[in-house]
Amino acid sequence: MSSRRIIQHSDQRTTSQAETSGLIAPATTLLDHLRSQITLTGGPHETIPVRAPYTGAPIGTIPAGTAADLELAVQRAGAAQVAWSKRTFADRSRIFMRFHDMLLERQGEVLDLIQWETGKARRHAFEEVLDTAIVTRYYARRAERLLRPRRRKGALPLLTLTREIKSPVGVVGLIVPWNYPLNLAVTDAVPALMAGNAAVLKPDVQTSFTALWAVDLLRRAGLPPDVFGVVTGEGPLLGPALGERVDYMMFTGSTRTGRLVARQAAERLIGCSLELGGKNPMIVLEDADLEAAVYGAIQGCFASAGQVCVSIERIYVHESISERFLGKLAERTAALKLGASLDYSMDMGSLTGDRQIQHVEEHVRDAVEKGAVVLAGGRRRPDLGPLFYEPTILTHVTEQMQLYAEETFGPVVAVYPFSSEAEAVERANATRYGLNASIWTRDTARGARLAQQIRAGNVNVNESYAAAWGSVDSPCGGRKESGMRARHGAEGILKFTEAQTVAVQRLLPVGTPQWMEPSVHARWMTRLLKLLRRIRVFD
Ligand code: NAD
Repeated sequence: MSSRRIIQHSDQRTTSQAETSGLIAPATTLLDHLRSQITLTGGPHETIPVRAPYTGAPIGTIPAGTAADLELAVQRAGAAQVAWSKRTFADRSRIFMRFHDMLLERQGEVLDLIQWETGKARRHAFEEVLDTAIVTRYYARRAERLLRPRRRKGALPLLTLTREIKSPVGVVGLIVPWNYPLNLAVTDAVPALMAGNAAVLKPDVQTSFTALWAVDLLRRAGLPPDVFGVVTGEGPLLGPALGERVDYMMFTGSTRTGRLVARQAAERLIGCSLELGGKNPMIVLEDADLEAAVYGAIQGCFASAGQVCVSIERIYVHESISERFLGKLAERTAALKLGASLDYSMDMGSLTGDRQIQHVEEHVRDAVEKGAVVLAGGRRRPDLGPLFYEPTILTHVTEQMQLYAEETFGPVVAVYPFSSEAEAVERANATRYGLNASIWTRDTARGARLAQQIRAGNVNVNESYAAAWGSVDSPCGGRKESGMRARHGAEGILKFTEAQTVAVQRLLPVGTPQWMEPSVHARWMTRLLKLLRRIRVFD
């Protein structure tokens, strides 16, 4: 212990568990209404209790859906999809823009629910509202332009009129985790639905009420109920059952489960899109604005208690500034306000589940046992609630420690010094993941240049994740084991469609005309190819 320098979180800056008992739990009438949005076959269903991370107290129960419930939801979605796909883009867009407005109006309700189910601080719950509104508006406004039929060059110039058409794939299955329950339930569904598909959602057990709130709001905004079905229950049962029935799988979650989803999709020869884990690096170059980099690191490492796929878990800082950087980072981290509160007063909330806090504790314990130094945090805070863990900074982390390469998915970051740009890039890339990265420098051209050497789907210069994530006109996806395909931008909607080529032939056939000798046809075609090569008009 002698080598450990711990900066404790001062007790005056936290809210005690006793004070949190004043939190008002979601009303039973609201939960009953939300449960009525689930597609269920007749007959009794088992129920699964959901507990509030802040207090450990029960929030309510959700029905444990079955394969029969999914069968019903997919059948209804398939039947409703036909009429839905015939509606105009303008008609579909109106529904989503109404949803956008209602979401902003009624954000207080869903912020409370997100906080109850995830335990995150309100400021981090608000990120979900913000992103959901932005992505909804983007696809509501852009879908028609991104999907409109396009003229293509025909087989024979002037004689073949060719168009490329984008058709919906049919019913899209969406499986989402608990960490961004509003955002992930909605932002992939909107492009899928705008493209004329129907969808069936399976949220995580822990955060089903937030997802149901979003589905309810979409229906209030005018979405026909069967076009977007939802079934709640256990992932290992419902996930494969959904994958067995739909025409496309959109999965967000761990790399381990993502592989199962991909395997099933491959077997059925359906498309799938996977948004998976990360072990995201931040590089702080010697010319970085130190104050900004420290603030960015705190945002990047501790937003939603580090339970964000794009969270920063590794920081490489140039050796010339590493001591100053670490001093400031440790001081600011130790001053963060932790606690349970349904207002904007807290800097960080709690973790979401037992499994998660145990995983975080295990990573830190293993690292400390093998010689890591704790500069801030490093312990549970049961005085605040059952799942609170202090934001934690470690140094002297080595390859032998679990958290060196494995995703922690909690408020823990390892900081390493580096001496050259090439070394920083090499170490940032030394991972099986490739989701997000962040570079800090006053020379933004240098940062943008360096970004292209990082093997990650998103690289932020002078931001930790929000700049790339929030640039919704550009694809956001993972490389290597962080995923396949991407959300956002054209890619985020095109993947929910199938391309069709419609070619109309006029005057002459593409092959040899009936009345022409094949040898004459071959001669004329050869001349035509030579001409086309020269004049370039039809290239
Ligand atoms: P998880 O894979 O355990 O669960 C995700 C979802 O899959 C849940 O809804 C779960 O019920 C369901 N599921 C469980 N077993 C299944 C099965 N056999 N078949 C199909 N579905 C099944 O993931 P988690 O631990 O709950 O979530 C955290 C992980 O998600 C982290 O690794 C994080 O990085 C990742 N994540 C990635 C993104 C991204 O956009 N790349 C976003 C958020 C979270």
